[in-house]
Parts: sequence; structure tokens; C-alpha cells
Amino acid sequence: MSVPEYYVKTDKSIKYLAATKKVYPLVTAYYEEAARVKADHSKKIGYTTGAGIVDLLNVFYDSVLPVLPENFNAGCAAKQITPPLLEIAESEGGYSKELCGYFRNATGYLLGGKNLDLEFPGGGMPPEPDFMIGDSGACTFHLKWWRDWERFFGYRVPNFIFDLPYIPPRMSMDQIDASYLQYTVQQIKEALHFLEKVSGQPFEEEKLMEVVRYSSEAGDLFNEVQEMRRNRPCPAGAEDILSCIMPLVQWSGRKEATDFYRELRDEVKGLVEQKKGPVEKEEFRLLFDNIPPWFTLGIFNYVHRFNAVVAMETYSRYFNLARGRMDPDKPYESLARKFLYGCVFKTSVRETIHDSVAALCKDFSIDGIISFVLYGCKISSGFLPLQKHVLENEYGIPTLVLEGDMVDPRDYADSQVKNRIEAFMELLASKKAASREV
Ligand code: SF4
Repeated sequence: MSVPEYYVKTDKSIKYLAATKKVYPLVTAYYEEAARVKADHSKKIGYTTGAGIVDLLNVFYDSVLPVLPENFNAGCAAKQITPPLLEIAESEGGYSKELCGYFRNATGYLLGGKNLDLEFPGGGMPPEPDFMIGDSGACTFHLKWWRDWERFFGYRVPNFIFDLPYIPPRMSMDQIDASYLQYTVQQIKEALHFLEKVSGQPFEEEKLMEVVRYSSEAGDLFNEVQEMRRNRPCPAGAEDILSCIMPLVQWSGRKEATDFYRELRDEVKGLVEQKKGPVEKEEFRLLFDNIPPWFTLGIFNYVHRFNAVVAMETYSRYFNLARGRMDPDKPYESLARKFLYGCVFKTSVRETIHDSVAALCKDFSIDGIISFVLYGCKISSGFLPLQKHVLENEYGIPTLVLEGDMVDPRDYADSQVKNRIEAFMELLASKKAASREV
């Protein structure tokens, strides 16, 4: 059975950077490897959560292939093949349309979508893992997700839940209480023990240090790219950068990711020196807030017609909050910090989110924000209307709030979204004109 052709298609993005064009071949090679591993059992397949603890699985890369269902979902959305999978989750599984789109898409795949001809590299993600290791970092829904899937695999797949504590607002990123770090280090040790057992590969501390070194280098290189986006013209827009976070998520701690970010950094540096970017006559700089609609990254190209570029995203920063703070000689503490920083949505309080978004806007000379409220992801979106209020009234930063889902295009009204973006750009233009007259 193949995917019906009647599903509405939205705009895919057009990439500007040569480095970004290398992401898809990397993804293809990865899913082909996954299909091979599944067939010849040369490695254990471990499902793990995105924005999580993949570094730990990569310590055992000789015998473990990490599979991140969230990445698979984003890939399905980018290929515009999610609708049949979402429908299977709803009709076969009885899951509500209001649930996390990532969960619904991957669940639809497991419940029958895997039998469709998805034209996905390698046929898609391996439909059954040898083990699961999830974490509570991004959101608490993950825990339910992983528990729910246990029954799909007849409760025979070992499942480790890595517990990450909530960071209260009284702590800043640089002042995490020692007890929080100790607790997380203990979780790391238990997870490594679990991985040693399910993989059959003995744990080696040198490998852990190597993973931390690569993870740290990749993060620092990507940070250089992000910093260079302060330039006018901005050398790289969201249409590129949101695809470029994939290696940081999937291959954190591996040489492939570090090599990719070195190449990206060098290309972006060259563009800055030549004063080049995707929008030649750059007039407006935008910030995109939250997980993007992966099925239509073309909206970031759409803003170019208004001489605007999306010069920064909150989402691209979430995977790199440990930048400059990791030390391979202290691998446990470094990873504990990285994982705790990754609990970004859990620190969704005014002091840590609203003010930091305002600071980001100042640093990157942002004229306006496009904020994406995801109906299936309450933890990332619940505070966005309040954030709009604070940013507009206290910081004077205009914010356009769009609503939708990151992988479900079925209720996405493409022309309506474009009309709203157009009206927002008119507002920014009149604001700019008024400020010139003063
Ligand atoms: S609910 Fe939100 S944070 Fe949680 S898995 Fe889904 S998209 Fe990610």
C-alpha cells in the first residue's frame, strides 16, 4: 500500500547553504544503516528520546544504533508523508488529535504505517527496538509515551527511564545546586550500567571522554555559527539552520557531527567575510519561537519577499545550551550539566524564558517574533500567549502568534498563514517608518 496522493502539500524550504544540502545524504545513510542493522543484527537498536541523552548511547556505538523517533517524525513531516500515519494512530489506536504530533506520527507508523510504501530512506525507522531508554528532560509526556509503547512490544523490550529533575527558577544555568548535579551523575552511572547490560559491550571511560569531547566541539562550532548570524546580512536563515540542528540531535558525541559543524562554520564564516546572505537587501530580522512546522519550512523562504530573514530561533538554541561549559576531563559532570540544561521547557518561567527571548532579540537586532503555538505540545506552548503579552508590552517587540502542529499539516491553512505573515510584515514596516520619522 502506498501513500495516497490527495494530501495537501505545503511549501518545502529552499536551502541556501551548501553544508545544509549534506544533511539529507547523512540522514539517508543513517536510515540505510538502520535497515542493515535490523536485518543482520550487527548492533542492538535502542529507541531514545530527542533533546535527551543520546550521548550515552553513542558511548556504545560499536554495538548500539540509537534511533530517535522524534527525528523520524520530523523527517516524515519534511517528506510530507505524515497524514496517513496520523490517521492510523487516530483510527487504529484511538489516540486524540490533541496529543503530541510526534507521538501520534510514530505510533501510527508502529500500528500499521510501517507497511505503507513511505518512500522513506531505509523504509523508515526500525519498527521494533532491542531496548528503550527515555528521559524526562524535554517533557513529562515522554514518560507516558515510552510506557505506552512497552505494550506494543509485548513488554519484552527492556525500558530504562532516565529521571531528570525540574530546575526551579531560583537556580540559573551557571548555578545549579550540587545536589541536582550529583543526582543526575548517579542517573548517568545507572544508565551506563543498563547500556552495558543490553548491548553486551563493556563500558570504557575513555569512550565516554571521547563522546564528551566531540559533543563539546560540535556544540562550540555550532555556537560560532549562531553568533555569526548577528551580522547584516545574516549569513544563514531558519530555512537552513533548522535542518542543520539534526546532527547535533542525532549524532551528539560522534565525530560525524563535529565534522559537519566545522564545515558549516567555515562556510558561514566565508559568507560573513563576503557580506553575503540569503536576503541581499535585508531590511527585517525575525526570530522564530518554538518547534517549527517541519512540513512547511518553506515559510522561512516566504518571508524573504519582504526583505526579511529569520535570523534566530529559540528551538535551534535548545540543543546547545551547554556550549562552552563541557570539559572532557570531567565527563560525568559535563553530561549532567548538558542534560539538565536540556530540560528547557521545564524551566518555562518568566525569568528564564521571556527575559531570555527579549535578550536574544536585542543581541540579534530582531524586529519581530513569529511564535508557533503547538496544540499538541502544551509544555512548549502554554506560556506563549503570556510571552507575547510581556514581549509586546514590556519590551516593545511585536509578536505574531500562529497555531498548528509540527508534523500534522491537515488543519494547516497555508494561505491564511501567509496572509497573516504579510500583515505582520506591514506592521513591522510601518513601525520602522514611524521610528525613522521621530
Ligand atoms: S509534547 Fe512537546 S516536548 Fe513533549 S515530546 Fe511532544 S513535542 Fe516534544
